[in-house]
Amino acid sequence: MPADHGTISDIHTSGSTGKPIRALRTRLALRFWSAFTLREHLWHKRDLRGKLAVIRNSAPGQDQYPQGSRFRYWGSSRRAFDTGPSVSLNINCTAEQQMDWLHRENPDYLLSHPTNLMRLARLSLENGIELPKLKDIQTLSEILRPEVREICLEAWGAPIKDNYSGREVGYIALQCPEHEHYHVQSEGVLVEVLDDDGRPCGPGEVGRVLVTPLHNFAMPFLRYEVGDFAEVGEACACGRGLPVINRIIGREQNMLTLPSGEKRWTLLSEGGIRKLLKLAPIREYQFVQKSLDRIEVRLVVDRNLSPQEESDVRDWTTAKFGHPFDIDLAVMDGLPRGRTGKLQDFMSEVD
Ligand SMILES: [Zn+2]
Repeated sequence: MPADHGTISDIHTSGSTGKPIRALRTRLALRFWSAFTLREHLWHKRDLRGKLAVIRNSAPGQDQYPQGSRFRYWGSSRRAFDTGPSVSLNINCTAEQQMDWLHRENPDYLLSHPTNLMRLARLSLENGIELPKLKDIQTLSEILRPEVREICLEAWGAPIKDNYSGREVGYIALQCPEHEHYHVQSEGVLVEVLDDDGRPCGPGEVGRVLVTPLHNFAMPFLRYEVGDFAEVGEACACGRGLPVINRIIGREQNMLTLPSGEKRWTLLSEGGIRKLLKLAPIREYQFVQKSLDRIEVRLVVDRNLSPQEESDVRDWTTAKFGHPFDIDLAVMDGLPRGRTGKLQDFMSEVD
């Protein structure tokens, strides 16, 4: 190790694949992490003196309702620059508790998982709860669906600023300040998007994401396949020369497999989801492909569905997935979140 890359520290993360990973990072790599964090704040013109509210996975018993926890700074970023305070609540609190806490804290900025924001925004709309100071929302770790952007704007008037990162590889891309697509952080990482034949994808094409972080010599990754698929974009009109990713689509285990063996992305569009939510009093939803001909629809509902509502949900699912799958409706008290707090709206258990 070059001496001026600094001391090595380690973190334990779930990794991009969900398997536990122990990752090593040099002080230099942490510097880059901080620099990209600061760039993100600057791009989105955040007031660094504002208050940040964070709702994410916490250790059991930590950041509990009603108080949550308070910190002098926004996370660990104080190494590179000063910020205002942050407050933190455990994502395993109920949506009602989270909204009560948010309403009391009245933050300038909010950071959470897209699926969690979705239910908070819906709860706010239903109950007329406002967050008058909220300026923007940062999302983490799950794929961001377009409908989440829309409902957050509607509920709180605040846009979502997404980014694409992995704890073991650092920042990959940040949302452009002027558009909803992403700019690769080329000073820190080489990103390749490759098609099935291993050739680089052009604008509009979808391929596998490979990353090569450039500065973390403590744990080199060369052309590391993070497991995601992404769509390459055209050069951005904002003038930043950094390569563009139009959207991050997700992982292979989030693809639907038709009985013919053909695989398809299951992008649940804003319009489609709205239709589903109008069919029945559905609070949360998740689709799991159990086998080549069977899909389980997991629902959290306000009350039991009528036979007509159940039938409507089945019809919607058949139309959405473009094949007459056998459909099981499973009503649950809550949808299981992974160890990291992630929730996927579509998963396949087909090998
Ligand atoms: Zn741009």
